Amino acid sequence: MITASERLSKDSNFQIYFHLENKKLYCKFCNHVVEHEHKSVVKVHINLPTYLKKKREVEAGIKALQITISNIY
Ligand SMILES: [Zn+2]
Repeated sequence: MITASERLSKDSNFQIYFHLENKKLYCKFCNHVVEHEHKSVVKVHINLPTYLKKKREVEAGIKALQITISNIY
């Protein structure tokens, strides 16, 4: 059995999408726990239309935030 932190450390891409919460893999974009024991489940998750939509929204939000900050300074 693999722990969530091992799953994260094995794939640097996953570190962008997930963080650890109570030893579980927590999706930053959907704000929910993703089953981490099977890599295929994680891979399926990051290709879900709902996930990709949220990711786009977050990334758009981050871009908007960066533009706002650079306007201030
Ligand atoms: Zn998600």
